[in-house]
Amino acid sequence: MEEIRPGVWIIYGENKGRFPFAHSLYLQGERRVLIDTGAGKSLEKLAGRVDHVCLSHFHRDHVAGNALFADASFSIHPGDAPGVASAEGFYRLTGLIRFDETYWETLNQEGFTATAATEHNEGDRIDLGSLTLRVIHTPGHTPGHCAFLVEEYNLLFAADIDLSPFGPWYGNDSSDLEQFQQSVERVRSLDASLLITSHSRPVREDIDGRLERYGAVIEQRHELIYRLLGKKGLTLEELIDLKPIYRRHPEPARIYRFFEGNMLKKHLDLLIGRGLIRRTGAGLYVRC
Ligand SMILES: [Zn+2]
Ligand SMILES: [Zn+2]
Repeated sequence: MEEIRPGVWIIYGENKGRFPFAHSLYLQGERRVLIDTGAGKSLEKLAGRVDHVCLSHFHRDHVAGNALFADASFSIHPGDAPGVASAEGFYRLTGLIRFDETYWETLNQEGFTATAATEHNEGDRIDLGSLTLRVIHTPGHTPGHCAFLVEEYNLLFAADIDLSPFGPWYGNDSSDLEQFQQSVERVRSLDASLLITSHSRPVREDIDGRLERYGAVIEQRHELIYRLLGKKGLTLEELIDLKPIYRRHPEPARIYRFFEGNMLKKHLDLLIGRGLIRRTGAGLYVRC
């Protein structure tokens, strides 16, 4: 735990906050609020000391410790609420519902649901007494992904707009590439003086430049995919084999292929929308 501003602590996730862990933010005013519960063991000492939990989005690495805070109230954006209300909702929003059920069971972890979660929405201000948390709806990664601004310090918790070297991730059925780009711009426009994300170190300097370069990865991927199509074009499966986004597909490889394909499809649809490529009857994506 690091008190990064008076009354505001970062709870660093296990394994440096790498998936399946994520950093949490803990705020103590007259009310005590925790953002996300996926930090792992370090959250155990906060059990019983949290009044309300805000979930940035429904992904498992952000909600895995929900059961520790059974005595707190929970909130999540309505766009992501189905993802914590039931396992089926999770599989639907991710798209993993298209996998067979035996695979689902291997993924099932107990205690991630927050069935009684209330809503938080864009512009909501959560009053903690001496601190105020403003909800910034930043969809794209997931439909209900939210960032949180601590107004008194201009400190932004941007969750999975995470500045990772991988770049933006939009591999779920419910992810949206263009919304992700807009959300990065939205976060830039806030001009935060301290940026905390779920999977990177706190950023104090060159916040705007870091965000700009992170968001630019999406256009770079467009260009790469367009180039890979070459003169003859490729099917989606052939593109997945080239792994332009993940570069490698470790085990379980079919999950990586699934996310790679989902991300590629979003790029291909956008390139079609821009009139740069088209899809032939044989399922080939070719340049126009
Ligand atoms: Zn996520
Ligand atoms: Zn995450």
